[in-house]
Amino acid sequence: MSKTYNISVLKGDGIGPEITQTSIQVLQAIQEKSKFKLNFLYGEAGLHCIEKYNTNLPEETIELLKRTNACLKGPMTTPEEAGAPISVAVKIRKLFNLYANVRPCKTFPSVESLKPNLDFVVVRENTEGLYAGAEFTVAPGVGVAYRIITTEASTRIAEFAFKLAQRRKKHLTYVHKGNILRITDGIFRDAVKTVSKKFPDVTVDDLHVDAATMQLIKKPEAFDVIVTTNLFGDILSDEAAQVTGGLGLAAGANIGDTFGMFEPVHGSAPKYTGQNRVNPIAIIMAAAMMLDHLGERDTAAKIEKAVTSVLSEGKTRTVDLGGNATTTDMADAIATKVRLL
Ligand code: NAD
Repeated sequence: MSKTYNISVLKGDGIGPEITQTSIQVLQAIQEKSKFKLNFLYGEAGLHCIEKYNTNLPEETIELLKRTNACLKGPMTTPEEAGAPISVAVKIRKLFNLYANVRPCKTFPSVESLKPNLDFVVVRENTEGLYAGAEFTVAPGVGVAYRIITTEASTRIAEFAFKLAQRRKKHLTYVHKGNILRITDGIFRDAVKTVSKKFPDVTVDDLHVDAATMQLIKKPEAFDVIVTTNLFGDILSDEAAQVTGGLGLAAGANIGDTFGMFEPVHGSAPKYTGQNRVNPIAIIMAAAMMLDHLGERDTAAKIEKAVTSVLSEGKTRTVDLGGNATTTDMADAIATKVRLL
């Protein structure tokens, strides 16, 4: 009997629905020849449902997520006013303890990048640090944000990153600002150093975050696995996405011990909503990462191969890649290629 995976799908806001649909199209194409079945269960979340539910992540959706093996999430618009609901991605990461944010940074053929043949991964601690958004006003005009860093979370993310480095080029760079943030980044640094003793085959380097932003431009080929805290990882991974080819191609995984959420690195790009113009590859690659996480490695590799093949042929290129293909043209080309592999 074939295996069935229940996949929760959150379409998101802005360009979210149109690109999420393309990833479903590619997943449907791939499962025609696969031994497994994907059962898509759609939930509501995002800015568009605040008016109806008074929250951007309704209880029904949380219950739906709990019944599924993984979540494929479209980008969502995060309201910026004080007191508004916090980001859905941040809520899901916290609720399901998705402590590892994994962002592969790999060049594709025929796509302009800062340098050719780059292949590294940014692993970001996903549950604490400044990005957790624990901030408050202490007096009018005076705000405070907590940057909580713990040995427990730092050890957990370091172990995840070392295991990943062991399966790759066996090189890990930990990024911090320990010269200034001596206590918090001291805890992070000490945790990485302690974990490194269990992985003697992995070469370890460290960089201050300001130097890391520079090295990503100057010598990106020097990296294999970068591990860092939440906010530094958020910034470095967007920079890395641009270095390797642009936000339209960059996918991310949020992984915990029992659940995973997969999404494009980019946001909801509201100005392009409904224009059938943006690149769907980021969310299609996020869908591939989801299959890989579910243990369907060969099938995930087929999606990556189809994307690579469409890009190297160069006939279908969305506007961000210098062409004039639409979102649906790109999705159709990848789905067609998937059926041929
Ligand atoms: P954004 O990533 O939405 O867009 C920035 C620019 O990147 C766009 O104007 C566009 O030029 C380009 N871009 C983004 N996606 C693209 C694609 N698929 N193809 C081609 N080009 C693409 O960033 P923003 O404008 O800062 O944020 C918009 C909203 O998205 C905000 O509300 C933000 O909070 C939210 N956001 C959500 C997530 C998430 O859901 N995980 C992540 C980042 C930002």
